[in-house]
Amino acid sequence: MVTLEKISALCKRCGFVYPSSEIYGGLNGVYDFGPLGSLMKTNIRNFWKKSLNATERDVVFFEGSILGGPAVWKASGHIDNFHDPMVDCMNCKKRYRADELSLDEPCPSCGKKEWTAPREFNLMFKTQVGAVSDESSIAYLRPETAQSIFINVKNVMSSNRVKIPFGIAQVGKAFRNEITPKQFLFRTREFEQMEMEWLCKPEEACDAFQYWLDQRQAFYKALGFNMVNIRFRAHEKTELAHYSKGCTDVEYQFPFGWKELEGIANRGDFDLTQHATQSKKDLKVFDEETQISYTPHVVECSVGSDRLMLALLCDAYNEEKVDDDVRVVLKLHPAIAPVTAALLPLSKQLSKPMLKLYFELKKKGYAVQFDQTGSIGKRYRRQDEIGTPFCFTYDFESQASNTVTVRYRDSMQQERVALERIEEIIKNAAVI
Ligand code: ATP
Repeated sequence: MVTLEKISALCKRCGFVYPSSEIYGGLNGVYDFGPLGSLMKTNIRNFWKKSLNATERDVVFFEGSILGGPAVWKASGHIDNFHDPMVDCMNCKKRYRADELSLDEPCPSCGKKEWTAPREFNLMFKTQVGAVSDESSIAYLRPETAQSIFINVKNVMSSNRVKIPFGIAQVGKAFRNEITPKQFLFRTREFEQMEMEWLCKPEEACDAFQYWLDQRQAFYKALGFNMVNIRFRAHEKTELAHYSKGCTDVEYQFPFGWKELEGIANRGDFDLTQHATQSKKDLKVFDEETQISYTPHVVECSVGSDRLMLALLCDAYNEEKVDDDVRVVLKLHPAIAPVTAALLPLSKQLSKPMLKLYFELKKKGYAVQFDQTGSIGKRYRRQDEIGTPFCFTYDFESQASNTVTVRYRDSMQQERVALERIEEIIKNAAVI
């Protein structure tokens, strides 16, 4: 059984994820990504970008600023509406989301029942820009990446040869001062989003919504998810924001239950209309065919890459009984696994050819590891635990025959292959 404790312990032990500022006692809801986590995050971003490029639709990429002035967040509705109800325990001072517990019950931390009245807590991080600190210098760390796309639609269209319908996609950090960050990477205060805003004519929005639902379904399949752990849940009418024409959550069955991984939404012309009104700029698009100006409609696909990483780790985690031992293995897609192959000389005297190959492959951009210490069995187990799909072992026979044994992570089967085939094997496996 996979548990969050096992995943977070593995992440710490193997260098995927560390609690941020750990030597100073940690910063709640914030994490640092170690060498393997950094490789895996890069693979996740690339997989997502490639999945957009693989469609027969035009999507351009974009990187907006993290800081934004109050006007942006006023127009988007975040200043007025982006809050959660909060209560404090007056006895132990612990803070909770009022919608996540019953105020008729005692405090889960100290057992007293001394609640403050619930009050709204805005989730945006506020800061000051420039030396003077007054009302005019207020800025916010973005709580989502989408708004920087909306306010740049005109720039992107006038500076690139793109025509509606097309998408603008962005990978970047977002910040939310979550009242109760929890469940490891699931709910953090600093996280990364991968968002795509599809811009289309109003009459095309329904078809586009269905098109992107299908594409996103294909994305999760291609990632190798066990699809019984993925479901698409259409929002009830009562759950929809007033402007929303439809929204479906992609949910994953985490060890702590079914939870949102991605939101896919038909947002109508709400966002662009809001920014046009607030900025007093014309954000309409002129349709050459009909000679009519209109406000594009938006279909949004928004997934958190940290949350997706957690889901991938939970899905890939296996404990298997091997002889009298239990092996921990991450059965990650080869394109997502942080390390694609390990090069293992059987003994130190045999290290030279593997070391040479290690540098060659590294130079070509492959994520490979060279490891010559410890018993070969232990080295295999270490690679299993971090999800490395292939181990290549150079042994005494290798010298004479110019071959290595390749050991496959999932089956643990081994076979002998020519040394010169190593690159081809890892290249083919990591194709998306
Ligand atoms: P939730 O209901 O879980 O708070 P949300 O509906 O507010 O999520 P969106 O605003 O739709 O989330 O954000 C899109 C995606 O960004 C989410 O599906 C999730 O993957 C990711 N995300 C949102 N908040 C966080 C967070 N605090 N930590 C990690 N990822 C997050």
